[in-house]
Amino acid sequence: MSWTPEQKMRLVFALRSKGVTDKRVLTAMEQIDRGLFVQQGLFSDRAYDDTPLPIACGQTISQPSIVGLMTQALQVTPRDKVLELGTGSGYQAAVLSQLVRRVYTVERFKRLVDQSQAVFDALGLTNITTFLADGSHGLPDHAPFDRIIVTAAAEDPPGPLLAQLRIGGIMVLPVGQSDAVQTLIRVRRTAEGYDYDELCPVRFVPLLEGLGRE
Ligand code: SAH
Repeated sequence: MSWTPEQKMRLVFALRSKGVTDKRVLTAMEQIDRGLFVQQGLFSDRAYDDTPLPIACGQTISQPSIVGLMTQALQVTPRDKVLELGTGSGYQAAVLSQLVRRVYTVERFKRLVDQSQAVFDALGLTNITTFLADGSHGLPDHAPFDRIIVTAAAEDPPGPLLAQLRIGGIMVLPVGQSDAVQTLIRVRRTAEGYDYDELCPVRFVPLLEGLGRE
């Protein structure tokens, strides 16, 4: 069963009230039913609330307004090739897939890669490629990227990711200690170097090394 017009309206209202105003982002988020990325049965009734929820492997699906704000901050164009670190449920990647040419998404837990791939297949989202890997090294074989989005927090932007951002490209990521409040930042690569700006306080699970064991 797909989501109802009332559930959609409720989600869009929450997004707008938190500052997600970009029409293309709102439209993309109306295309993707978050209920499909939430553990069926357990949290289905809260899938359209503006709240993070637990997913498998002790991870979380981000709050919809954070997905919206990060997508908006990325300023994507339809030609972009995007790298996402931290596939998790696959929801953020699915939203991005509506707005860009190609999404490469990396996750360290096999179970999450398999689950999100199954939802992408069911939805026919053929422009998403999933990878089971430690994403902090990026994907050198597919670099450079027009946009990079990181959905797990590191203390600082990982060096390999900065190097894999093309000149003119944008990266959005949370930085800070994993057990404290983190800051969402935007990094723009210019011909001379990198410009940083701070967006808002956020709370993400930590970016961890190596593959996940479960
Ligand atoms: N974008 C997700 C939310 C991600 S939660 C969504 O829309 O649901 C953060 C995810 O990052 C977790 O699934 C975690 O396993 C993953 N992660 C943490 N460190 C990682 C790393 N080094 N490489 C790849 N994935 C990582």
